[in-house]
Amino acid sequence: MNSPATQVERKVAAFLSRPLRLLIGGEWVAAASGEIIPFDDPSSGRVIGAAAAAGATDVDHAVAAARSAFERGPWSTMPAADRTRLMLRLADAIEANADELAYLECVDTGNPLRTVRHVDVAGAAERLRYNAGWPSKIFGDTLLSPPRAGVFACSIREPLGVVGAITPWNAPLFMAVGKIALAVAAGCTVVLKPAELTPASAVRLGELVMQAGFPPGVINIVTGLGPVAGQALVDHPGVDKIAFTGSSVVGRSILAGAARNMKRVTLELGGKSPVIIFPDADLEAAVRAVAMGIVFKTGQFCAAGTRILVHRAVLEPVLGYIAAGRTAGAEVACGGAQIEGDGYFVQPTVLANTSAEMSVMREEIFGPVLCVTSFDDREGLEEVIALANDSDYGLTARVWTRNLATAHHLIRRLRAGSVNINGAGGAGSEGLPFGGVKHSGVGREGGHEGVESYTEIKTVTIGY
Ligand code: NAD
Repeated sequence: MNSPATQVERKVAAFLSRPLRLLIGGEWVAAASGEIIPFDDPSSGRVIGAAAAAGATDVDHAVAAARSAFERGPWSTMPAADRTRLMLRLADAIEANADELAYLECVDTGNPLRTVRHVDVAGAAERLRYNAGWPSKIFGDTLLSPPRAGVFACSIREPLGVVGAITPWNAPLFMAVGKIALAVAAGCTVVLKPAELTPASAVRLGELVMQAGFPPGVINIVTGLGPVAGQALVDHPGVDKIAFTGSSVVGRSILAGAARNMKRVTLELGGKSPVIIFPDADLEAAVRAVAMGIVFKTGQFCAAGTRILVHRAVLEPVLGYIAAGRTAGAEVACGGAQIEGDGYFVQPTVLANTSAEMSVMREEIFGPVLCVTSFDDREGLEEVIALANDSDYGLTARVWTRNLATAHHLIRRLRAGSVNINGAGGAGSEGLPFGGVKHSGVGREGGHEGVESYTEIKTVTIGY
């Protein structure tokens, strides 16, 4: 008899044995051009599958299907409880197929199976469950005292319409579900374009969407190249909003493109997040968190803490911990080299004595590289804040201190979408808004801010 692991592997092999198709209006179709794009397993460099290469014509069909489902289909007018039920059914389907989805995501992205299973796939089901509560809880306001006697005045929220969701390769399922969950909770319909490097889990998600019973055209999936299929979504006059997660470079071009037809946008972009460690911190916990923070997803994680600003009194113990970790055979090393063999691997790397003007401190490396800069008492709090804020990015900032006054001061002064004190984490959890300032993005996902960004406000006045 086959072991469960073998069964999962066989299911995934069968799924990947044919080119993945596009989901348009509830039908699985090849790209109009017939073209496909191969994708590989980064841990071996071996090609494991191919997906349809959608072009402008396919995107046009997908947008038409989403528009029709929005205008004429049942979605935007469906009773809230029914929309909630469908979203919960999709969460159940993800959970029922969690091992298979995790294995698929693992071979497609190179992420460790355990991380994918317990963070990405479990998180995707949670995102759906959290957002499934929104359809019955999106409100407008009514004025107690209208501008004139004999006038009833209120605001109502309405779904934006058709959303183009464009997602990156580092957490494909989690990102795709996050955008779909917010959009459909608000009553929008969606055309999802996953990253060309990692299209597999999005297509499998499409199968689960249909199995859960979503009406045709509510969720459409087009695989393809960013500058082709992604750009076609950005340029399409029938798309009301682009919800994008990816690099700041592409984010800027999307913002410019969306401006041409006044699309709404949310942009979740890159980061170069500081971690400030004061001498009074719980050093063992801080060092463990810093090390984990950079090896989690091999540093290919938008909120990774990559600029370590550490008090000089702490620096020596930190380097001591790293050396001890290396002696003990831990993963953390001063590295710097590519790892020989199959796949695309580099050693975890710590760069000491880095300063603000160096490119390693300014640019998002998106790999397991830590830059360490020290400060001392003479530099004072203001200089530390200036050092932390000296970045084009502003996604997340982390602070380690037992001094409440220092913590509160930094919470106010750090220019970032989230500030975490003493490893509390939590940003990115459902219920909390997540996003960046400066070049780290526009708008927020998560919390009520997230779902409201898929709605438009309409002001209504009625004379009586
Ligand atoms: P990327 O910007 O290269 O690609 C992201 C998506 O955009 C892909 O689907 C790609 O095909 C598409 N794309 C590329 N060119 C396009 C164009 N001209 N028009 C429309 N779409 C286009 O990013 P990536 O390398 O896939 O992902 C890594 C980046 O994502 C990192 O910068 C990381 O920090 C960021 N990220 C941010 C968050 C967040 O929540 N802030 C989360 C995960 C990843």
